[in-house]
Amino acid sequence: MSNRIVIENCAVATVDADDTEYASGHVVVAGKLIESVGAGPAPAGLENVTRRIDGTGHLVTPGLVNTHHHFYQWITRGLAQDSNLFNWLVELYPTWARIDEEMVYAAASGSLGMMARGGVTTAMDHHYVFPKGAGDLLGAEIRAAAELGVRFTAARGSMDRGKSDGGLPPDFAVETTEGALLATEQAIDTHHDASFGSMLHIAAAPCSPFSVSTDLLREAAVLARRKGVRLHTHGSETVEEEKFCHELFGMGPTDYFESTGWLGDDVWMAHCVHMNDSDIAAFARTGTGVAHCPSSNARLAAGIARVPDMLAAGVPVGLGVDGTASNESGELHTELRNALLINRLGGGEKALNARQALRLGTYGGARVLGRTAEIGSLEAGKLADLVLWKLDGIGHASIADPVAALVLGAAAPVTLSLVNGVPVVENSRLTRADEDAIARLTKSQAQRLARIAGLA
Ligand SMILES: [Zn+2]
Repeated sequence: MSNRIVIENCAVATVDADDTEYASGHVVVAGKLIESVGAGPAPAGLENVTRRIDGTGHLVTPGLVNTHHHFYQWITRGLAQDSNLFNWLVELYPTWARIDEEMVYAAASGSLGMMARGGVTTAMDHHYVFPKGAGDLLGAEIRAAAELGVRFTAARGSMDRGKSDGGLPPDFAVETTEGALLATEQAIDTHHDASFGSMLHIAAAPCSPFSVSTDLLREAAVLARRKGVRLHTHGSETVEEEKFCHELFGMGPTDYFESTGWLGDDVWMAHCVHMNDSDIAAFARTGTGVAHCPSSNARLAAGIARVPDMLAAGVPVGLGVDGTASNESGELHTELRNALLINRLGGGEKALNARQALRLGTYGGARVLGRTAEIGSLEAGKLADLVLWKLDGIGHASIADPVAALVLGAAAPVTLSLVNGVPVVENSRLTRADEDAIARLTKSQAQRLARIAGLA
């Protein structure tokens, strides 16, 4: 019989289909699964209770799900501070082209560690820079996620459209089409685990319309469907991208994606800022998902995604930190607030409420990653990925509503975060890694990269 963890006397936001909440309730975890969730104390007479937690002053929610990131950027933060996307990319590509396995491992540890401390239980990464001879970069990320105990989707990215083919990245930063496809297939064969409760998914993820050939997009979609993995890319991020697509392909990004097999319920795209009504309708009709990245969109002045319109149309939407060269904080719990604030700036006071923001960061993320049967809400039978937020401290104690305290208040401390029923954070500290050691490692690798790239 499985060991049990009992959490009680806390507010509970289940984020189930009815948004069920309990002002004072309980969650019982048995092994790696949620056994029961409900009002009041846990049922009496439970056996094998190895830990009983008094959650007074806390809110328990599903673990947060991050749906877009570029871990390697953790060691190129604070650069190109005042640029739009294309200028920012052109400035950073030459530095990124010098990364290696050691640097990516350090950056992944920093990115994952920071997110985990802030309640992320499922992370994803979109890695698309693979310099020749740089080592096993995807493997380095996978190792870092396994060490920290975070559930992970590693999206094997790629770029094959260099400047000489009309693309944005310099030729030295891209792979061949065949090389990218082969490496993506190898990553799937080596790492993808489709089982219930899997700690590791692989996705196929050519980078963007302006850095990837039409052939690579088409072939990656065929490959992903043959292998049963999901597809991820950047889409409709900026007006410059839209212009690029019209000039090169004679159509906007969404029509271009549709023409290459890239709309479907196995696809999710980051940003989707510049979407017209027919683009949103196409995403809704096909079940194509969106990773909304409000801080990055603001940092690069990309614009405001039409999240309320997407939700009204039935488009699956999750939240993303995006790479930390365009969102230096690298935290997802603060993206709940930023999503709400930015969408209200764009669409008025009813555009998004606190519960919708929490849903984007939990169930919405699980939906775009194709994992709602396993994670995203607190329901019996789902995996025990949950977060116990401390809301009785100076920052939150006087806020009337616990969900508003989490979403609108300061970044809330995490008393306990479980993945598969295993603690990954206790009292705001990582349980399985030394945060100070990660900080030192990321600083030294950032300095090493700056030296190699001629920045320092
Ligand atoms: Zn991105």
